[in-house]
Amino acid sequence: MDTPPPALAPEVLVPRLGETLVKMGLLDEDQLRRVLKHQHAATVEGKPMLLGEAVVELGLLDRPTLDRAVTEQIILLRQALEDANRNLERRVEQRTAELQDALRRLSELNQLKANFISNVSHELRTPLTHVKGYVELLADGSLGALTTDQAQALAVARRASDRLQEVIDDLLMFSLASRGALTLQMEALDLGQLAGAALAASQRKAEDRSIRLENRVGPELPLVHADAQKIAWVLAQLLDNGIKYTREGGTVSFSVQPDSASPSMIRVAVSDTGIGIPPERLDEIFEPFHQLDGSSTREQGGTGLGLALVREIVQAHGSRMDVRSVVDSGTTFSFTLLGNDSQRTAP
Ligand code: ADP
Repeated sequence: MDTPPPALAPEVLVPRLGETLVKMGLLDEDQLRRVLKHQHAATVEGKPMLLGEAVVELGLLDRPTLDRAVTEQIILLRQALEDANRNLERRVEQRTAELQDALRRLSELNQLKANFISNVSHELRTPLTHVKGYVELLADGSLGALTTDQAQALAVARRASDRLQEVIDDLLMFSLASRGALTLQMEALDLGQLAGAALAASQRKAEDRSIRLENRVGPELPLVHADAQKIAWVLAQLLDNGIKYTREGGTVSFSVQPDSASPSMIRVAVSDTGIGIPPERLDEIFEPFHQLDGSSTREQGGTGLGLALVREIVQAHGSRMDVRSVVDSGTTFSFTLLGNDSQRTAP
């Protein structure tokens, strides 16, 4: 059986007085044994005594000599403590320098990553613009009539290049955000209209997966002060995730309502009846390039950048993302924007 480690009591830290007296040549080993026996006997009799008392009682040392020995022991102890403190300070300084170095290297790597992402996405954008341009020309018949098969093949190519464009746009927005260069073009915005457009754009994706989209946008909402393009992107992203992480037959609903806790704020929420997120992993989902299912066999595509950017954009608006989720039951992502009561949408 393992013996438990000794408790860190003072007797463990302080060298025993008996040993010190022997080391100082004031007692020999035999005398120390006699002293310990005497001390033990007193304890057995129910009159515990300190080792120093036993030494004096046996007449091996007088009180002043014992006091001098104890004082010397205290001085030695203090010196040892000061040495240990100095040593500790040196180690803390060393570790701090190492951590600072690691942090500097990490920031350099982060910068390299951001530069790389920015360069690659710019490089990809130019050829993709050409691909998309020619696909459009072909699709609208400008370069000659198409057979049904050709039109179908082009439709696939168009969807693929649209998807590629989305990924590149996400990467570009991410590199802007990580450089702190995400700028907002603020304007008075009708969230209901924006939500309607986002729902309409997602309708087809939802139908392909037999998912019902629900529109719960309240009537007569105040306009909000926000960047239309970026908030539209946030809505599209949240809807896209809702559809992606909900099984067939589920529902994704979109709600825009005055916030119950603070009615001057408008709460935008996207809820799904999907797979949900375990509570201990809720923080992870906002990390860039982070996916809860990171395996190569994962069912859903994506870069893991969506929610990181959603949070950046919402925070740039002075708000914060709220997420509530129950595994196998569903998830709600929401945030608020300040309503402008003097400007209202049409009833
Ligand atoms: P991705 O491109 O993987 O969708 P996101 O940043 O949008 O990246 O989301 C990060 C991760 O958070 C996803 O990979 C998924 O594991 C989880 N997640 C996001 N939205 C939902 C949701 N509505 N329900 C369940 N899990 C979600």
